[in-house]
Amino acid sequence: MKSGVIIVGAGHGAGQIATSLRQFGYEGSITLIGEENYLPYQRPPLSKAWLAGDAGLDDVLFKPKGFWADYNITVMTGRRVTSIDRTTAHIVCDDGTRIPYTHLVLATGGRARRMNCPGEDLAGVHVLRTLDDANALNTAMKTGRKLVIVGGGYIGLEVAATARKRGLDVTVLEAETRVLARVAGTEISTFFERIHRQHGVEIITGALAQGFEGTNKLTGVCLNDGTLLGADIALVGIGLVANAELALNAGLACDSGIIVDALCRTEDAAIYAIGDVTRHPSTIYGRSLRLESVHNALEQAKTAAGAIVGREKPYNQVPWFWSDQYDIKLQIAGLSEGHDETSLRGDMSANAFAVFYFKGGVLIACDAVNAPAEYMAARMMIAKGTNPDRAALADLTVPMKEIMAAAISS
Ligand SMILES: Cc1cc2nc3c(=O)[nH]c(=O)nc-3n(C[C@H](O)[C@H](O)[C@H](O)COP(=O)(O)OP(=O)(O)OC[C@H]3O[C@@H](n4cnc5c(N)ncnc54)[C@H](O)[C@@H]3O)c2cc1C
Repeated sequence: MKSGVIIVGAGHGAGQIATSLRQFGYEGSITLIGEENYLPYQRPPLSKAWLAGDAGLDDVLFKPKGFWADYNITVMTGRRVTSIDRTTAHIVCDDGTRIPYTHLVLATGGRARRMNCPGEDLAGVHVLRTLDDANALNTAMKTGRKLVIVGGGYIGLEVAATARKRGLDVTVLEAETRVLARVAGTEISTFFERIHRQHGVEIITGALAQGFEGTNKLTGVCLNDGTLLGADIALVGIGLVANAELALNAGLACDSGIIVDALCRTEDAAIYAIGDVTRHPSTIYGRSLRLESVHNALEQAKTAAGAIVGREKPYNQVPWFWSDQYDIKLQIAGLSEGHDETSLRGDMSANAFAVFYFKGGVLIACDAVNAPAEYMAARMMIAKGTNPDRAALADLTVPMKEIMAAAISS
């Protein structure tokens, strides 16, 4: 086989880098190799429209089916890459095939973290990372009545909202004292706990699940205080483990993710990595970040494609993310971790507000609930390292555009 760009993984980042390479005029061969049995697809709908039954396969595909052939991009599905031979610049697949590369891109994402506890393999216990996972959960929800979700993060809460829409009885177990504790401030946690309870979800915080009961099929979830919660479906939504083993076994530097520079290059000049699997430097936050977001996967893909064709444009963007639960759209700009001050704009009881997070007087993040103008302005203000006026932020009569202009010019 002729050498060209080999992309390991056929997810969001992989689909984008193949597309960007062609857009940037790359004429060599491009091959995507993915272990799942699907063309590149989008994961965000899996916990939302897909699970609600409002989307079909064509709606979640990253590009229409014919796109890949039209752009002369080879997509190999159902094929796992098992190792990288850096000495001869080949990858090795699970059927023993060796394929040469001029550039290799690792876009291997991550897998759902497991609890490694008794009963986790019982029928009825689910995770949600792939389309197959979503299909299995969807099937279970057709006959299931009681869903217990372990983990009050975004995926757990989105599934809770969808499951309520489908009429299931839902309990969310969160080990911390509040949901979304890892990713959002207390105002946002309090808000989402209220919204879910209003929709009939039981939320138990400070609850540590430690096992699953049942003989062949799940009948209950055990907590460390001895409580047994009856359930016929459980979802373990406790985060992601980066699929960094290929890089690690090939001797590339990893730190719970593959370490890349601002051009998404690993230590090996011929090997790039993009998306959820990477740890990249951020000058905005002065530390390295491993992000799990569509925006990060897409933008790193564009950066790496640019670097491969000689259009170097370092990646240093304000992270952003979104979550849809019921009729609430949460948009998150930046990272609030380490904040020492918050400022509230809007009315939490009206379900339209934004929380701005500061560190040392500088805006570092914003969580905007049904507040797109606040979110857009925050992205710009965070990128510029500004210190917007708190009184103006708290005053809804002062337009966000005005606040942003003043912050950027001062
Ligand atoms: C249910 C759900 C909801 C989400 N909602 C949102 C949201 O609302 N907003 C948002 O911004 N983000 C959301 N995300 C996160 C977002 O989907 C990810 O950040 C994004 O998919 C990352 O893209 P990626 O290309 O890095 O990895 P992935 O899309 O995970 O693709 C990696 C692919 O590589 C394959 N692979 C791994 N190892 C190998 C190997 N050795 N050989 C071959 N193939 C391999 C994997 O099987 C996988 O198909 C959500 C994720 C999930 C699961």
